[in-house]
Amino acid sequence: MPQHDTEQHQPNGASPGQVAVVPQVTSARGSWWGPVDVSGLDGLFTPEERDQALRVRTFVDNEIRPNIAEWFSAGHFPREIVPALGTLGVLGMHLKDYGCAGRSAVEYGLAVQELEAGDSGLRTFVSVQGSLAMSAIYKHGSPDQKQEWLPKMATGDAIGCFALTEPDSGSDPASMSTNARHEPGGDWVLNGKKRWIGLANLADVAIVWAQTEEPGKGRGVRGFVVPTDTPGFTATVIEQKMSMRASVQCEIELDNVRLPASALLPADTAVGLSGPFQCLSEARYGILWGAVGAARDSFTAALEYANHRTQFGTPLTHFQLTQAKLANMAVAINKGYHLAHNIGRAKDGPGVTPEMISTGKLDNTRMAIEVAREARAMLGGNGITLDYSPQRHANNLEAVRTYEGTDEVHLLTLGRSITGVGAFQAPGAQEGGAK
Ligand SMILES: Cc1cc2nc3c(=O)[nH]c(=O)nc-3n(C[C@H](O)[C@H](O)[C@H](O)COP(=O)(O)OP(=O)(O)OC[C@H]3O[C@@H](n4cnc5c(N)ncnc54)[C@H](O)[C@@H]3O)c2cc1C
Repeated sequence: MPQHDTEQHQPNGASPGQVAVVPQVTSARGSWWGPVDVSGLDGLFTPEERDQALRVRTFVDNEIRPNIAEWFSAGHFPREIVPALGTLGVLGMHLKDYGCAGRSAVEYGLAVQELEAGDSGLRTFVSVQGSLAMSAIYKHGSPDQKQEWLPKMATGDAIGCFALTEPDSGSDPASMSTNARHEPGGDWVLNGKKRWIGLANLADVAIVWAQTEEPGKGRGVRGFVVPTDTPGFTATVIEQKMSMRASVQCEIELDNVRLPASALLPADTAVGLSGPFQCLSEARYGILWGAVGAARDSFTAALEYANHRTQFGTPLTHFQLTQAKLANMAVAINKGYHLAHNIGRAKDGPGVTPEMISTGKLDNTRMAIEVAREARAMLGGNGITLDYSPQRHANNLEAVRTYEGTDEVHLLTLGRSITGVGAFQAPGAQEGGAK
């Protein structure tokens, strides 16, 4: 039996199975970031940026926190809240026109870190929809493709997915075998398999990347806008995940999927692997913010718990060892926010490099996993239940660490930048094109 008083440890009256709603305590200085703000984070953002973030925080508190333990436990992606996310303005939030909110990169970053403080699965949906599927159409699509899809994707009336990864082609997408055959009449016929494709079973449209020529070098990779009701398209949900349980990923089979010539993403920017890579860069930008939100929520849960949990006659927060843990977590989280903020301002201004994106994605994700695990340990046995968020965040972050470039891919990207030597291929291996 747990040796604690449940009432004492379930802030705001959350019952088992419902994640405790942590009061949005403000720090001694009154920072809207709460006690985690040990470096003046609030001074980095304008009042308008703060208000945008707090709007999303309120949405998360009302719509996600009360339900997330249930969704995670049941392996349920809440399709029903997608229209509300559209109304909130976070679908394609950083895109302009076509019904999109046209907000800055920093405002988008703030929004996704609030969403990921709720759950990585919900942030993942927003990333797949806005940064991958919508962004592919926005960057590389024809005027007709943009008009047809972007407005309804911005409202959440249509869902998109982004199909790059395959069963045998992950970090090295140049090795993909899905192919698109160009027929004499102009049609394209797609055949192949994709794996780990977010939302594919619910999506109305899939952006599918396929080889059109020069297999093995990535130069012939092109993107196609595929309505998911096209004959030959099937999506099968990947079950029994231990991570990202409140979102859904699928295997896709493309069996002679026939598309008109107009399905090709026509822009010059979409020729070769740089087409999908530009979208991946957008998604990685969201992740480098999002992960810090999961870390902050884990920290807040641990602090709240340690404030109430008494052992050896005092609340845990009175122990020096506990304070050291909280201090180390806060410092790491603050550094993560400063990194994200710097990259965000650069994205809104002079621009970002792949190295900046890799640095943020790599380090903020691994920092967040460490913080979530430490927070879990601070909750003792209760930390392994879904009553509290840290273990759920830690599990989710394992997937975050793998998608949009694994740690190794980002280390190799940075290594190439630092040394001028690409080390993605083992000596003697065939040339590829790493994510
Ligand atoms: C929850 C989730 C959602 C996803 N959503 C999507 C999606 O919507 N669309 C999509 O297209 N894909 C998606 N993915 C796929 C994701 O992008 C891939 O899982 C990722 O690129 C890694 O590929 P892989 O899993 O095949 O691993 P592999 O590439 O096989 O890698 C296995 C291990 O080998 C390491 N490795 C690989 N190459 C090297 C190297 N050169 N040197 C050293 N180590 C190396 C990797 O770092 C990793 O540790 C998703 C994945 C997950 C888990």
